[in-house]
Amino acid sequence: MANCVIHPIPIVESKLDKSLMTYRMNFGQTILSIGYVWYIKGTKERILVDAGASAEYLSTVRGMPAKEIQTLETGLKNLGIGFSDIDLIIITHLHNDHIADAHRFPGARFVVQEKELDFARNPHPSVGAPYCREFFDGLRFEVVRGDTKICEEISVLFTPGHTPGGQSVSIKTAQGAAIITGLCTIREVFDPPQAIAKSTPVITPGMHTNVIEAYDSVVRIKEMADIIVPNHDPEFRNKSSLP
Ligand SMILES: [Zn+2]
Repeated sequence: MANCVIHPIPIVESKLDKSLMTYRMNFGQTILSIGYVWYIKGTKERILVDAGASAEYLSTVRGMPAKEIQTLETGLKNLGIGFSDIDLIIITHLHNDHIADAHRFPGARFVVQEKELDFARNPHPSVGAPYCREFFDGLRFEVVRGDTKICEEISVLFTPGHTPGGQSVSIKTAQGAAIITGLCTIREVFDPPQAIAKSTPVITPGMHTNVIEAYDSVVRIKEMADIIVPNHDPEFRNKSSLP
């Protein structure tokens, strides 16, 4: 059985300057960035990608104005599941907006890259603000190193650059490999406008700890994916399932 379906669960929306997504381009343009949790159907265990963060937390604690689309609870409920049903959560990286609600899943194990966990526990202060130990200390981690098969239908790909140990998630679907990016991106990063595409196949992600690794990871995902799922793009907001 390899025909998984991905259900996007949009939780929050934020208005961001587009240059945060597209490095050294598009200053002063505002875009919508969506915070998602992803539910994968078609595997033996119940699996999510990322654990989400509430709009209230992001707005009040993180100083990142965010509007609630729905609560995570409602999003799960609409798919017929609840927090205690989830067996496994693949964490793309340990930034707050992807992990803050992890402790609400009492039975879940959490797949994380060793490099990401090591860095998150002792981040360099220049890029340390989005890491918050209270959200990930005490979680039941399954630590992986590099590309790793998680189950028959799902593998993680080591795609550093946005953070030192970021990972993307490759899922077998009826239309080939869908890859949910672990780098915070929108569609345009993978599919630049024609004028830019003449000189580079992808756009460097605007937020990174290593700009060259970030670029290379985007190229790698583009080469490997049949379906690219940029993890903050608004296009999935009103889609109940992919593909
Ligand atoms: Zn993000």
